[in-house]
Amino acid sequence: AFDAALIVRWMTVSAAAVDREAGRLTELDAAIGDADHGSNMQRGFTAVVKALETEPPATPGAVLITAGRQLISTVGGASGPLYGTLLRRSGKGLGEAPQVTAEELRAGLQAGVEAVARLGGAAPGDKTMLDALAPGVEALAVSFDAAAEAAERGALATVPMLARKGRASYLGERSIGHQDPGATSSALLFAALAEVAK
Ligand code: ADP
Ligand code: MG
Ligand code: MG
Repeated sequence: AFDAALIVRWMTVSAAAVDREAGRLTELDAAIGDADHGSNMQRGFTAVVKALETEPPATPGAVLITAGRQLISTVGGASGPLYGTLLRRSGKGLGEAPQVTAEELRAGLQAGVEAVARLGGAAPGDKTMLDALAPGVEALAVSFDAAAEAAERGALATVPMLARKGRASYLGERSIGHQDPGATSSALLFAALAEVAK
């Protein structure tokens, strides 16, 4: 079972991964966006870790809701409200239980990914974070490692895609041949989850 401390660890390991990969995320965004995805994610996850340290929530659901709220309020870019919605909606789905099962966590995250699709109006294939989030959450039914692998494959699969949502879509055909920054950061979040779930 997963308790609040484990979900806090997921967020701190995610923050560390975002710090480590910030340069690369920004480089990817420089190619098809506005070169701020790394710094957006860093700002957001720094605030998440700080909020969780200051006032550690008692349940897995509350951890995700607090984290999501921080992302929404600190990240100016499109990714803030989208990732914020992912975590907040996932947290709501977990309710107030002090511990959740892997299956409950999977169901919560699934609801979160669906909320991201509704908010952003994107579907898999549009070259967005959903290209990693959707296969990742689907493979959670198999295992956390399978989910991390599926999300990573999903991020790589965005390279030949034409962007249909977000800033990259302004480039039209010129968006082809570059990996989507948001799909890349989504794969980091699934890798972090697999690491802490071991
Ligand atoms: P901004 O584009 O505002 O500068 P970021 O650079 O932080 O924000 O995030 C860009 C990422 O957000 C993209 O790589 C893409 O994955 C994701 N994104 C943008 N628009 C959407 C959308 N409508 N639906 C899903 N994901 C989106
Ligand atoms: Mg950007
Ligand atoms: Mg921006």
